[in-house]
Amino acid sequence: MERVGFIGLGTMGAAMAANLARAGFAVTAWNRTPDRAPELDGLGVERAATPSDVARAVETLVICVSDTPDVAAVLLGPDGVAAGARPGTLVIDCSTISPAATRGFAGELAEHDIALVDAPVSGGSEGAQKATLTIFVGGEAADVERARPILGALGKTITHVGPIGSGQAVKAVNQVILAGTYLGVAEGIVLAMKAGLDVDQVVGALGGGAAQSWVLANRAGRMIANDYPLGFKVALHRKDLGIALELAEELGADLPVSALAASLETELIAAGHADDDMSALARSIRARSGLPD
Ligand code: NAP
Repeated sequence: MERVGFIGLGTMGAAMAANLARAGFAVTAWNRTPDRAPELDGLGVERAATPSDVARAVETLVICVSDTPDVAAVLLGPDGVAAGARPGTLVIDCSTISPAATRGFAGELAEHDIALVDAPVSGGSEGAQKATLTIFVGGEAADVERARPILGALGKTITHVGPIGSGQAVKAVNQVILAGTYLGVAEGIVLAMKAGLDVDQVVGALGGGAAQSWVLANRAGRMIANDYPLGFKVALHRKDLGIALELAEELGADLPVSALAASLETELIAAGHADDDMSALARSIRARSGLPD
């Protein structure tokens, strides 16, 4: 069976590497903090000492690290992928990072005859564990086809959305839509509470109409209880809105709702809520409306 590399065994990466191993791929992995994800040992996942060593062991490797500078470090830094990869290697980047930086990385890797596809994911840690992620893929058609069997072990809906960087642009669109949806649901819940309505009944009644959404169905309860277990971290969504707002500025798009969500999330992070689920945006609306914290 083909050997595949995996770099970044965090919440998402550890679950994704496990699914590759379960799907029958031989996996060679690296994580910056070496003892993370010990459960992978039982699935036969081998560990390499550096990203270069991962690249030396495989023809295809997946990356899932936090942010743009982190992808730069594992690709192009000392002991990075580019230092070890053979010509013809394919890199699949599942991190959520800048589309413009992604195009830059592709150019630098092309000088080493290494191909890159961007394949950011949606669906959260639950989707990563269940291999039901939604994946937006950017890159050359032949490279995307090469990536498909690997992505197929990680997710259910895999869409080739355009050239390199396009996957990241679609992910930015996804995060912009989420910003508006979470804020809209939070405002509705707070208004219902202030009006003295039976808020659980309101959520049920709205679920059959035009205001229905995944956020209303799955996150209104947290907003009512004012308790925000993970989920998807406020800090990660703030990072993603930074990417989206930078893209919007490059393109001359004005996104006032996303800008508001970003500033509310910055306040939440400063107040110690970085690791809350992003439904904690309701904290801001509740506080402005005089509801107890
Ligand atoms: P996480 O649990 O915080 O893990 C981050 C991973 O990146 C860790 O393995 C970390 O290594 C590694 N890393 C960070 N900086 C690095 C660097 N400079 N060099 C090498 N490794 C580095 O994050 P996550 O939730 O798995 O998210 C990973 C990516 O998936 C992010 O881009 C995120 O936006 C995206 N994503 C997350 C979710 C979600 O629900 N969590 C959903 C969709 C997409 P250490 O262990 O050494 O810290």
